[in-house]
Amino acid sequence: QPSGKKGDISREKSAELYAKAQQYFPGGVNSPVRAFKSVYGTPLFIERGDGCFLWDADGNKFIDFCCSWGPLILGHNHPKIREKVSKALEKGLSFGAPTALENELAELILKNNKCIEKIRFVSSGTEAVMSAIRLARGYTGRDKIIKFEGCYHGHSDSLLVKAGSGLVTFGETSSAGVPQSFADETIVIPLDDTKAVETAFAQFDGQIAAIIIEGVPANNGLLIQEPAYIQFLRDITRKHRALLIFDEVITGFRLGFEGAAAYYGIQPDIITYGKIIGGGMPVGAYGASSELMGHISPDGGVYQAGTLSGNPVAMAAGIAQLSELKSSSFYKSLHTKSNEFVEAIRRYTAAKNYKLKLFSVGSIFWFAFTDKEQIRAASDIDHHSMEYYKAFHRELLNRGIYFGPSGYEVGFVSAAHTKVELEKAKRAIFESLDEVF
Ligand code: PLP
Repeated sequence: QPSGKKGDISREKSAELYAKAQQYFPGGVNSPVRAFKSVYGTPLFIERGDGCFLWDADGNKFIDFCCSWGPLILGHNHPKIREKVSKALEKGLSFGAPTALENELAELILKNNKCIEKIRFVSSGTEAVMSAIRLARGYTGRDKIIKFEGCYHGHSDSLLVKAGSGLVTFGETSSAGVPQSFADETIVIPLDDTKAVETAFAQFDGQIAAIIIEGVPANNGLLIQEPAYIQFLRDITRKHRALLIFDEVITGFRLGFEGAAAYYGIQPDIITYGKIIGGGMPVGAYGASSELMGHISPDGGVYQAGTLSGNPVAMAAGIAQLSELKSSSFYKSLHTKSNEFVEAIRRYTAAKNYKLKLFSVGSIFWFAFTDKEQIRAASDIDHHSMEYYKAFHRELLNRGIYFGPSGYEVGFVSAAHTKVELEKAKRAIFESLDEVF
C-alpha cells in the first residue's frame, strides 16, 4: 500500500499480510468490516495490544477506541484476565462437560443482576440472540418478531433484515441468502415510532412473539432512544402478551453491571449478552426468569446446544473481567472520564462551528457528521456524511488514534484509557477535524 500523501502511516507489512489473506479469505478477512472498505487504505494487521494501546505489523502504535468492538472494557492484555486464563489453560482447553468455572461466572452475574434469574452460555452474540428468539417463539407459540431498522443482532437469518453494522457500512441493509419466508416473519419498524409498532400489533394480532431492541442501538450510529419509548415497548408487549427482548450484547456490563435494563429501570423478558461477558474470549449468553428459561432443553422443548458452550478458558476470562466491574465506583469513574472527554470535543467543534455532533451514553460515543441535535432513527443519518468519516479516520490513524473502520460504528472508552492518553487523543482529534473541515 503506497503512502497516498505526506503523513500517511506506513502499511507495508500490513499490505503484504493482506495480499496473502486475500488468497485465503473472502475479501481477505474473517468479518466484513475489518476489510477497511469504507475508509482509506489497507486494513491494519494487528500484532499486539496492551492497556489502551495497539501495535500493528508495521510497528505503528495507536490509542485504541475500538476495543475489539466493545469487549475490552478493561483494555488489552489485562493482567488479572491473563492470570486467570493462564490458570485455566493449564488444566485443559475444553471438556464438553460442566465445570465449576461456569457456576462461578453465572453466580457472579446472577447475584449482581436483578433482571434475570437463569442464564445459558453460548459462544457469540449471534448465538445468544438467535437462541433468545427461538425461546420467545417456543414460549409464545407465535412466529413473528418485530425488530428495528438499523438494529444489528448478529448474522442469523431472521435478524439480517434491515440491520446495521457491516451491512449498512457496505450500503446494503439486508443479506442475500435469507429465505423470503424467513424474512416475512420479521417485521421491521423504524425506531422512535410508536404508531408503527401499534400498527404492526393491529395487523398481526396474536402472531407476534417478541419485540427485540438493542439496549441502546449502537450499530447504525448511536441512536439513543427516549426512556418513554422503551417504556412504551414494555407496555405494548405486555398488552399483547408478546415478549420484550433487550439485546445487550454491547450495553450489557457496559452501561453498568446490569446494563440497559437497569439504566432504563425497565424489566425486559429476555436479555442477551456478548462481548464484555467473555473478557475478550468468544462468549455470549441469554437469560430470563427461571420460568421462561425452564422452556430450554433439556427441561423444556426449545432446543439449543453448543460443543464449546461454557468453555473453561472463556469462562475464566469472563470471571476475571466481570470481577473488576462489580463495584459501583468502576462505572462512575469510567463514565465521568468518558463524559469529560466527549464534552471537550463537543466544546471544540461547537467553537469551530464544525458540522459534527457527538452522541454518547456512558462510555459509548459516536461521531455524527451532522447539524442535527438528535438522531433517533436510522433514516435520520445522511449517508453522504460518511465521506467525512473516511477522511477523519485517515487523519486519526496518522496521529496514532484507532477507531473502527466505519462511520456507522461507535467508539468505546475503557478503564485503561488514562487521563494522559485521553488528553493526547483529544489533541489528535482536534487536529484531524481541522484537516477534515
Ligand atoms: N447484537 C449486538 C447488539 C451486537 O452489537 C452484535 C455484534 O456486534 C451482535 C448481536 C452479534 O454478536 P457477535 O458478533 O458476537 O456474534
